[in-house]
Amino acid sequence: MVDLRSQYERLKADIDSAVAGVISSTAFIKGPDVRLFEEDLQRYLGIRHVISCANGTDALQIAMMALGLKPGDEVITTNFTFIATVEVIELLGLKTVLVEPEPGTFNISPEAIRKAITPRTRAIVPVHLFGQCADMEQITAMAQQHGIHIIEDTAQATGAEYRFSDGTVKKAGTMGIIGCTSFFPSKNLGCYGDGGALFTDNDELAALIRSITNHGMKVRYYHDTIGVNSRLDTLQAAILRVKLRHLDEFNEARAKAAAFYDNELSGLPGISIPERNPFSTHIFHQYTLKIDGGRRNDLRECLENEGIPSMIYYPVPLHMQKAYLHLGYHADDFPVTSRLSEEVLSLPMHTEMDDEQLAYITGCIRSKFN
Ligand SMILES: *Cc1c(COP(=O)(O)O)cnc(C)c1O
Repeated sequence: MVDLRSQYERLKADIDSAVAGVISSTAFIKGPDVRLFEEDLQRYLGIRHVISCANGTDALQIAMMALGLKPGDEVITTNFTFIATVEVIELLGLKTVLVEPEPGTFNISPEAIRKAITPRTRAIVPVHLFGQCADMEQITAMAQQHGIHIIEDTAQATGAEYRFSDGTVKKAGTMGIIGCTSFFPSKNLGCYGDGGALFTDNDELAALIRSITNHGMKVRYYHDTIGVNSRLDTLQAAILRVKLRHLDEFNEARAKAAAFYDNELSGLPGISIPERNPFSTHIFHQYTLKIDGGRRNDLRECLENEGIPSMIYYPVPLHMQKAYLHLGYHADDFPVTSRLSEEVLSLPMHTEMDDEQLAYITGCIRSKFN
């Protein structure tokens, strides 16, 4: 699905020297590269504060802690996402309110959010799924109207850009009060282990987030709030500084592979190529098809027989996950999500795909669907 090795070979000289530099400095925790990477990413995103942490799941949890969300507060998010998003809501004792995605773009439906807002709603967590931004214009308008926080989950969309109708362009993760991302190795900006970060323009919130990531302290051994221990390793920060310089070029390589897939697969009966919305760039964390008529699993098996990996993101809607049955939803409450879970199939997508690989994959699919 991803080819991290070929990408490493391409960046080897810079990565190796960055890693060697950290090891010889032995500044493994909070070394200078951590702050330098945060500053590099601030400039790239056009935001006042980037606070790094240990992973994307922590980033979401820390965001909800920093906003002072309390047990019973309702948090609206999409039913079609990675589990991390709802996990932290439940861990903090908040109330998860799941809503449907849009069937074409896979992103949270603004209409569904509108219907789910109650006087107890305190936050909305839009997830920019598969590399394309959710409809932030409508979501921010609703949030402002009701005084609700937006926490963006941009783990799959770091580098994507959103265009508002007044022409303003903003990077994914910089439109809500807090943006959260992950640097898991396979993400568009990935390190060589775990990593994550929070983004905000709010100075006070940034200071609070920084203290929460560090056991709730600003002055050493004086703890003002209950915090966590969540740090980005210096080694990972040094690697990320190298990789951030290539992020736009990486995202272009993904878009190029996506265009190849589009060309070869659009118009095939029973297959829908990923729908683009008019207001966001798509940086293709995943290239995800919809296969109808119950043929998805057949195609997957057929690809596997030809040595072609594919993945189902996500096979079980959150409301049907064993650990989340207590939310009290019924199986048929989310027809869009349930249908997507039966139709989606993600193809190999990374920065090193060449035309030969793409032709082999698409040829295999075409021969099955013509
Ligand atoms: C990867 C991911 C996360 C969690 O990131 P980790 O760094 O693995 O904790 C959260 N949300 C989404 C949508 C993700 O894809």
